[in-house]
Amino acid sequence: MNRFDVIVIGGGPAGSATALFLSGCGHKVALLDQARFPRDKICGEFISPAADVILERLGVLAEIDALSPVRLSGVSISSYEKTGFAVEYPPIPGSTRPMTSLSLPRMVFDRLLIERVGQAGVVVKEGHKVTDFIVEEGRVVGVRGRDDAKTPFELRAQVVVDAGGRNGVSLRRFDLKKKNRGSSKIALAAHWAVSGPLEKYCAMHISHPGYTGMAPTGPGQTNVVLVVDKKSIQGEKDLHDFYVRTVLKNPLRRELLDGGEVMEKARSVDSLAFSVRPVQIGGLVLVGDASGFIDPFTGEGIYLSLRSAQIASDVIDASFKRNDFSRGALAVYECRRKKEFRKKFLLSKILQRLIYSPALCNRVIEILARNPEQAATLVGVIGDYIPADKVVSFKFLGRLLAGAMRIDGFFSFPPSS
Ligand SMILES: Cc1cc2nc3c(=O)[nH]c(=O)nc-3n(C[C@H](O)[C@H](O)[C@H](O)COP(=O)(O)OP(=O)(O)OC[C@H]3O[C@@H](n4cnc5c(N)ncnc54)[C@H](O)[C@@H]3O)c2cc1C
Repeated sequence: MNRFDVIVIGGGPAGSATALFLSGCGHKVALLDQARFPRDKICGEFISPAADVILERLGVLAEIDALSPVRLSGVSISSYEKTGFAVEYPPIPGSTRPMTSLSLPRMVFDRLLIERVGQAGVVVKEGHKVTDFIVEEGRVVGVRGRDDAKTPFELRAQVVVDAGGRNGVSLRRFDLKKKNRGSSKIALAAHWAVSGPLEKYCAMHISHPGYTGMAPTGPGQTNVVLVVDKKSIQGEKDLHDFYVRTVLKNPLRRELLDGGEVMEKARSVDSLAFSVRPVQIGGLVLVGDASGFIDPFTGEGIYLSLRSAQIASDVIDASFKRNDFSRGALAVYECRRKKEFRKKFLLSKILQRLIYSPALCNRVIEILARNPEQAATLVGVIGDYIPADKVVSFKFLGRLLAGAMRIDGFFSFPPSS
């Protein structure tokens, strides 16, 4: 049996969600991953509050909740050890339900998802690496590759979804990755053993030579991701040593870790944001990180993966109804995705500029510290449940900018307390 309606490459959040949505619509789906699960993935491991709704639709939220995972009630941000604030996620307008983000090791989260995929009747093939696409009459009609015993395979389908992440096979094969102009970044991550009560916020510390995201992933355990410019590791012989030194250099991080020790060797990943050219061939759709990667500062890659899987599945299902898998039919997905995420990506770019400009960053964080309502709106946008227009707007940015330039009142703002 090597014919399917849909083949999904990759069993991360994007691939598993796509497979689940499409099999739920009655399609015959195969999911291939080169890894065997549980497999690890470098990540801040906190999942935007907005993801809960999608996880519920995928039928995994109850199982996740049964594990009593850490739920964070807000975000704290510090800037260059000078200023900072902590703010709870605001409730959704019109609701009193407290919003929280999940903080769950990827080893657990991704395994739960892929197990659910198998239970839903999808043919899951772990240890299967896709190396190329089968292209006929100008359309992708399948994949070929080899399993971990080096046995070659070929599978065919009407649609192939590349959810292979940052190094998705289609990015190379169809030359889709755009080089970004920004400087190269590297991310280093490890779990730390900590004592003391569980922190209730995800802590972002912006500092020289980069920033960290810290979140408890369980009792006595905190995940610490450090993102720095690649230039700052030049001449470093031991990346683990650099990581521990840099993490502990910041007194606020030291305070949070409270004498805790790193539990494992720091792992590293190239963390440069990139965008992707539109796919030019029928039968192929890219979801999750394979469709572009934004800097992890705002930590929403998992939500974006789940949501892009949901949009892609809608469009692919409609293609089956019309029996049209052409480029034009599937491009509807890219338009919808772009429209939905455009302002969020813009916000991410603005924040990137900001965090690497210490003086401006200090001022903006100072203003947010004095305006909890504005800070809460920003955190709700980062949490993906308040529309990005609320922040990427002349009014919001103008207020921040005016404050940063110490001209409060120019745009007739409420006085800061
Ligand atoms: C440093 C860092 C910190 C981050 N922190 C956060 C955070 O706190 N919160 C958040 O929401 N997001 C975070 N992200 C982003 C998040 O990790 C990604 O957005 C998310 O993992 C994307 O999911 P995906 O399914 O697209 O890809 P992945 O999770 O990368 O999964 C891709 C899968 O495809 C498989 N695969 C790849 N190529 C092939 C092939 N040729 N054949 C078969 N299988 C293949 C891989 O084995 C893998 O299992 C962070 C990212 C980085 C780099």
